[in-house]
Amino acid sequence: MKRTLHLFLFIFVFYSGLAAQNLLGGTPISSTPHNYGSGLNVASHAFDGDYSTFFASYERTYTWVGLDLGSPHIITKVAFSPRIAHEYRLLLGVIEGSNRSDFLDAVPLHIIDVAPRANTMTEATIDCSKGFRYVRYVGPNDARCNIAELKFFGYASVGDDSHYPLVADLPVVSIHTADATDVTSKEYYLEGFVSFISDGGSQIFTSVTEIKGRGNYSWGLPKKPYKLKLEKSTQLLDFPAKAKKWTLINNYGDKTLMRNLLAFEISKRFGMAYTPAGKPVDVFLNGEYKGCYQLCDQIDVRPGRVDVVEMKKKDIALPQLSGGYLIEIDAYADRGNSWFTSSRGMPVTIKSPDDDDIKYEQSSYIKNYFNQLEAAVFSYQYTNPSTGYRSLLDIDSFLKHFIIGELTGNTDTYWSVYMYKDRESDKFFTGPAWDFDLAFENDNRTFPINNLSDYICLTKGSAVNNMRNFVKRILSDDNAQNDLERIWTRARYHDGVTADELLEVVEDYSAKITNSAHLNFLRWPILNQYVHQNPRIAGSYAGEVDFVKEYIRQRIDWLDNKIGLNADGIEQMDSKGSVYAAYGEIHFENFSTPSDIHIYDMLGRLVATRLVNSIDQIKMHSGLYIVKMQTGSITYTQKVLVP
Ligand code: CA
Repeated sequence: MKRTLHLFLFIFVFYSGLAAQNLLGGTPISSTPHNYGSGLNVASHAFDGDYSTFFASYERTYTWVGLDLGSPHIITKVAFSPRIAHEYRLLLGVIEGSNRSDFLDAVPLHIIDVAPRANTMTEATIDCSKGFRYVRYVGPNDARCNIAELKFFGYASVGDDSHYPLVADLPVVSIHTADATDVTSKEYYLEGFVSFISDGGSQIFTSVTEIKGRGNYSWGLPKKPYKLKLEKSTQLLDFPAKAKKWTLINNYGDKTLMRNLLAFEISKRFGMAYTPAGKPVDVFLNGEYKGCYQLCDQIDVRPGRVDVVEMKKKDIALPQLSGGYLIEIDAYADRGNSWFTSSRGMPVTIKSPDDDDIKYEQSSYIKNYFNQLEAAVFSYQYTNPSTGYRSLLDIDSFLKHFIIGELTGNTDTYWSVYMYKDRESDKFFTGPAWDFDLAFENDNRTFPINNLSDYICLTKGSAVNNMRNFVKRILSDDNAQNDLERIWTRARYHDGVTADELLEVVEDYSAKITNSAHLNFLRWPILNQYVHQNPRIAGSYAGEVDFVKEYIRQRIDWLDNKIGLNADGIEQMDSKGSVYAAYGEIHFENFSTPSDIHIYDMLGRLVATRLVNSIDQIKMHSGLYIVKMQTGSITYTQKVLVP
């Protein structure tokens, strides 16, 4: 009896194992074959067991051959063989699964990253919990598909969404357009579908989308940047904003594939009110691998992005008319719809309210207000705090934006400057910091940055008409110099703007991106080419990353010397003691200067105050608290969890 059961179990396990490896049959399907009508190179040739026959397509790109399995199947393995003497045409080929005959919602199951041998089957295991009725092989760019044999293995099941494969550790963005139309316009959207696979493959979000090109210079590069407009406002990945519009930054000239992300991290450390959210992703369009991109915020007005009041059409009288506005001082301003030239010739685009919605009263208001700012900057009494530029410009955000540009070595900082003005606020705020393709020593026109005689923006950096004079004028104010020193000192000593910490960020991104970089540079083999404004080429991804590390170290030293570190400020900051929780208590130690302590609960209620001199402790119930410490003129906050 026991033996029979064992035998039964053995057969069951053995059979299940085999079932998972079952060769799947189905109806061959494909894009239009090469010699359509003649019966040559048709879909069935990829499934005839003959290495000398193959499928080839009529179109060169976005072409494919596969099977309609009749019902959903979980795919456990694929096997493929190239057309003889055309092995390389399978490199970067992609296996996709879908439950629609038009493949609009298809996701990548495997990417071929080594050209396989001819006259033999190369196998790849697939780990995906979802069942697909339609499965296919999509040939790489310009290859006419060209595959001799294709086999799918698996078993019948609808499966579930618990696990999708990633191709290189990063989230996957899989986009399909109707009829696999290529995205060739940055004016008109194409209709399509997009799937975002994230969290190691455990999350998928699929939506109807529109897609078009974006960017100015970058749109002319071979690897295209895109803009997505989802059907509904969505919080993608774990980004803060809920929005329809998202951007895919192409990073063609940035061979580290991380310059924007690195700059965003620096922007955060300087405490900018809003830093664009971005993550590295692998992008597929119509089944073709397009490379490693950054999925980023679109710069617009909404909570989680530029969080000012959004204007309505009826807001044509004060105080509503006073904001919010988002503008961009912008070299490309005259290519948009809603733009003006300032009194002194600066080109300015109004980004919000939108082109379509803006009222005449609104565009004249913001134009006049910007002209007032400009007049104040260039006025005789420009340093006067109540009538000069400070009455109309938030100096902290302006200088932080400036120093982020200088630290990252962004030669484009003043080629495009975002500013915003909120309702009933007198001042323009500068930011967000954006577009760092040429930063971190990636511009031959300024290389090597640390040999320049002055700040980048005052020497060789790109700047729109009159912008350099604008910046120069503000920096010529002694108070602005003091503010700059204060901002730099604080960032250097308390907000993690150190070479060690920033190099750690670089290394983290490099580790995350490296497998995707491998695929990216198979798709775009440019590691040994000078592209865009590259001043140097390293010949490898790791070498490109090393260039950035070397630059950061040198740049921080250069800026320490240039701006100076405020000794008084440091002393005050160093006098900050340490705060920690013990059972039922918060402890304060090493407060060399008397400090005012305010403790708040998580509802923002003040629960305790104390003037701490050297050592002290306060009894607290268990819970999470915010401790605010005022030492001299400097305030710190710290979260403390009391057990
Ligand atoms: Ca064949």
